[in-house]
Amino acid sequence: MQSTSLYVDTLIQSATVYFESDSEAQVVDVAISKDRIVALGNCSHLQAQQCIDATGLVLAPGFIDVHTHDDLEVLRGPHMLSKVSQGVTTVIAGNCGISAVPYCADQALLDPINLLGEQSEFVYRELQDYQHAFSNAAPSVNLAMLVGHTTLRAQVMRDLSQAANAQELEQMKSLLHQAMAQGAIGFSTGLAYYNAKGASQAEVHALAQVVTPFDGIYTTHLRTEFQGVIRAMDEAFATAEHAKLPLVISHIKCAGRENWGRAPEVLAHFEQHRQTHLVSCDCYPYAASSSTLDLNQVTEETDIFITWSEPHPELAQQSLADIATQWQVSQREAAKRLQPAGAVYHCMLEDDVQRFLSYEHSMVGSDGLPCDPHPHPRLWGHFHGCLDITVENNNRCRWHWLSTK
Ligand SMILES: [Zn+2]
Repeated sequence: MQSTSLYVDTLIQSATVYFESDSEAQVVDVAISKDRIVALGNCSHLQAQQCIDATGLVLAPGFIDVHTHDDLEVLRGPHMLSKVSQGVTTVIAGNCGISAVPYCADQALLDPINLLGEQSEFVYRELQDYQHAFSNAAPSVNLAMLVGHTTLRAQVMRDLSQAANAQELEQMKSLLHQAMAQGAIGFSTGLAYYNAKGASQAEVHALAQVVTPFDGIYTTHLRTEFQGVIRAMDEAFATAEHAKLPLVISHIKCAGRENWGRAPEVLAHFEQHRQTHLVSCDCYPYAASSSTLDLNQVTEETDIFITWSEPHPELAQQSLADIATQWQVSQREAAKRLQPAGAVYHCMLEDDVQRFLSYEHSMVGSDGLPCDPHPHPRLWGHFHGCLDITVENNNRCRWHWLSTK
């Protein structure tokens, strides 16, 4: 670096930076011009348009939200404030078996694909079509796409309650192969959901194998997160091992009161498999889950909060128990009448959540639902920080994230 004064756009002064996870922190200045770091260390000889004093604060690169349903949100709201306001600069979309591509919706959206957006938004037959739209929208975050199993089924199959037949399977394999060749990073399933439950092990294995030559990953919303969680994990391990793929178990949890306190058992099972296979998980820092309203999860012991209902929008933001009382019916009957609907389920034990979050092979993934009119707070709150954000006229964000943690 020359000693004559130079101009840069932004100079972050005296920031504490960890260059490697196990190394000692260093206090440095960081100079930025356009979107590049142009100098690190003592930058006192530089002049900047904007100076930020980061004395006593840690400076970190943007976070990756590894579990999102932002497939279409990045196109409809490219400022992505729910992410950049938390320091998230990269999102992984297409989780839980539902991706916006490759899918042209010519019928009403199936559950839970309807979590992603409106039918009219599903117009991307190939990943490259979506990539064009993404480039045009120029969102404030980077994105990597998983290809959803339920999406492939919706594109190809007539009766999703069954396993795919040979011809349907070949069509799904070909769509998945094309998407991987065009840059998708892996394959996701949501086997707990009605429209994927009927898939046979052979169907899931055959699809996962398509991803192997591309060095992709397999992520899964387990077949159950309730009492059968260990068996469901074994199913996921078997698929990943069969296809020789790294595995990410999505939003790991012990759901349902009878299952509370089992985090040590689940993590021990995890560790056992980590001896022979690359497995990890993601997790959000809340003891309540959120999805579409699922009759299988309606029990008297779980507090359920309705976030939206197509037939009864006026009942959003009320508890299912209160609605059932008003109608003088059981909660199950009330849930049936509210469908299609969205819900937040208070189904976890805080101690389990903390154990999963602090597990060294756990990643933070919001699982935020940006289309929900009353979203679970995980959409905006899964990474905490102190942020200074400016939204420019063209809706693009400039941000920096500073925290004492
Ligand atoms: Zn999920």
